[in-house]
Amino acid sequence: MAARRVTPAAAQAVPASAATAPLRPAWAEIDLAAIRHNARVLRDLVAPAELCAVVKAWGYGHGPVQAAKAALQGGATSLAVALVEEGRQLRNAGIKAPVLLLSEPPAPAMAEVVRSSLTPTVYTEGGVGALSDAVAASPRLEPFPVHVKVDTGMHRVGAEPEEAERIALDVAARPELDLRGLWTHFAVADELESSFTAEQLAVFLDVVGRLARRGVRPPVLHAANSAAALCHPSTRLDMVRCGVSVYGLAPSPDVARDGRCSALRPALSLRARVSFVKEVGAGDRLSYGLRYALSRRSVIATVPLGYADGVTRSLSSRGGQVLIGGSRYPIAGSVTMDQVLIDCGAAADVAVGDVVVLLGRQGAEEITAWEWAERTGTIAYEVVCGVSARVPRIYRR
Ligand SMILES: *Cc1c(COP(=O)(O)O)cnc(C)c1O
Repeated sequence: MAARRVTPAAAQAVPASAATAPLRPAWAEIDLAAIRHNARVLRDLVAPAELCAVVKAWGYGHGPVQAAKAALQGGATSLAVALVEEGRQLRNAGIKAPVLLLSEPPAPAMAEVVRSSLTPTVYTEGGVGALSDAVAASPRLEPFPVHVKVDTGMHRVGAEPEEAERIALDVAARPELDLRGLWTHFAVADELESSFTAEQLAVFLDVVGRLARRGVRPPVLHAANSAAALCHPSTRLDMVRCGVSVYGLAPSPDVARDGRCSALRPALSLRARVSFVKEVGAGDRLSYGLRYALSRRSVIATVPLGYADGVTRSLSSRGGQVLIGGSRYPIAGSVTMDQVLIDCGAAADVAVGDVVVLLGRQGAEEITAWEWAERTGTIAYEVVCGVSARVPRIYRR
């Protein structure tokens, strides 16, 4: 089956000036309709809980502004990011939806948090004080919304339960602040058999109960990431924070096999065109280290993507494959910084210009981020976040 020619149509999807049009035939195609669809599926699944779409880390490699807009169109009602810089980027693009910061911003960043109307998370007294000072320095009509994070057992960031209760009471007592949310984060929500998620939820709900007895009820309680939202309905509370599932990826191979993600569609595919083709004789060896020896004469295709683009170097020694013309072919020898070699076999009909799929679907075949991740000992999250800034993104609406 002939490779689908995607570039001309895809190139029309973004206005690219002559100066910015990609010259190297290698690109990541981002299907914004898939992001909209995934957000809608998640929203319908978790309703009446609301969907907060997580667009940190450059929208998991998809482009934060485009991903955020598509997720909002699909029904997400808010966004979340890791960094103040990431939140400011959304504001600079004109996005008005609430943007939650998932870690407490450093004290010197609080002024920018207020200026950009981001919703900070706090879990230290110092953080509450720095935020109060920043709010006081630029008075506004409404109290400034803030969420408090409880560490219920993952031990990354957040206040221990008793400390979280004190901090929440402190926030609630300050007229310039509005205790809008209380939340926690799960360590093993993707492990379907583990009881630890239920234990974390119980610790969290205990803090909620203690606050209620003091007359404080933060309106937005949230805990679930994608895995919890998909697999542990009791964790959905008032809002879920979904990242990886918005991009159409399962949070773990277990969850993928379990079928709970079957309605989601991966939004990112990584593609290039064959840049060079030659025949190489039996016994010759290929690429740096000459570690790939040909047992028979073979057609070798060069693809202009390498580890500087996020094509993990260890794919070469772990059976990494690509799709050309709808068929799988092995990566031959070491992935280099800018290029990989593909062993197309003795009789392959492969030509310069053919579309190569490193991630995504072609004909009946598909290479998923999880396939790539499982070969290289990582997770699909790292695969999509790893598609580097050097790879142009082509957006399809
Ligand atoms: C990244 C992140 C999420 C999103 O997790 P997914 O598994 O991608 O859904 C949610 N909450 C917090 C605190 C995070 O850091």
